Amino acid sequence: MCKECFYWAFETEIHFTIVKAKLFEKGDYVAIGASGGKDSTVLAYVMKTLNERYDYGLKLVLLSIDEGITGYRDDSLETVKRNRDQYGLPLKILSYQDLYGWTMDQIVETVGRKNNCTFCGVFRRQALDRGAMQLGVDKIVTGHNADDIAETIVMNILRGDVARLQRCTNISTSSEQSPTPAESDASVIPRSKPFKYTYEKEIVMYAYFKKLDYFSTECIYSPNAYRGHARTYIKDLEKIRPMAILDIIHSGEHLKFNESVKEKMPVQGKCTRCGYISSMEVCKACLLLEGLNKGLPKLGVGKSSKVKRAVMSNAPTSAKSSDKTKLDF
Ligand code: SF4
Repeated sequence: MCKECFYWAFETEIHFTIVKAKLFEKGDYVAIGASGGKDSTVLAYVMKTLNERYDYGLKLVLLSIDEGITGYRDDSLETVKRNRDQYGLPLKILSYQDLYGWTMDQIVETVGRKNNCTFCGVFRRQALDRGAMQLGVDKIVTGHNADDIAETIVMNILRGDVARLQRCTNISTSSEQSPTPAESDASVIPRSKPFKYTYEKEIVMYAYFKKLDYFSTECIYSPNAYRGHARTYIKDLEKIRPMAILDIIHSGEHLKFNESVKEKMPVQGKCTRCGYISSMEVCKACLLLEGLNKGLPKLGVGKSSKVKRAVMSNAPTSAKSSDKTKLDF
């Protein structure tokens, strides 16, 4: 394929994915999760291009989360700010420091390098929702690509995490995670992945030939060891047979779960602490935060009932003041 035909095929496939899955409605206000990395930079560029080419009628905004990682996120946010100017899209940045009272640098100093991504991932997910709620958007899109989804499927299989396995192939979270009307104040804004069927290699090629301005350095606290193994495995498979990535997604989409497993699926409710959607009485972010603030960071990791007892107790905090336990809406 020549360059021009590659651009056309790349963009049109994403357009077909968006249309087939009915990801948007005319007039939707959509936040693009923007990290400055290749995936989200290409996503912002392609969303803007398709919105104009096919008249989706969307209002787009960039939404970034500043985890507080010196030498990584501060630099990548500079890229997002340039993208804001290059694409003429507004940008909102929310920081862990403001939302949780902790930066990732401080968390890593406290918990070490083993479980840092657990804290970071849980906090980021909530932070994106909180930013989206503040903006009043209807939907969020993220740059997760086919390789990411295949990795997640493999990881969930290896972990036996059936609940996540059922959810991780969905292109949009709207159907399976929307709360009931009674819980609407805890609502999670629908999230979708327009790159669900787009290979990472194509995204890199597109960004490279289009000369898009993106940040390519890895997080200084990466890799997440477990995902790293899944990633290596998927990349090895891809070398032998590139279709393996889409085939894993196809298999994940068509798995059938027996009724007895389905019955054990957690019921979504609201966190009694912060009001965020949660299948537990206290959401994972509040548990992790409480562990940090009590100077017992490891208690927030894992599923042990000991964790819950320690967190729910009124024991005095030993490391950080308790004013950090309440999440900022
Ligand atoms: Fe956060 Fe881990 Fe990703 Fe770094 S690698 S941004 S610490 S989740």
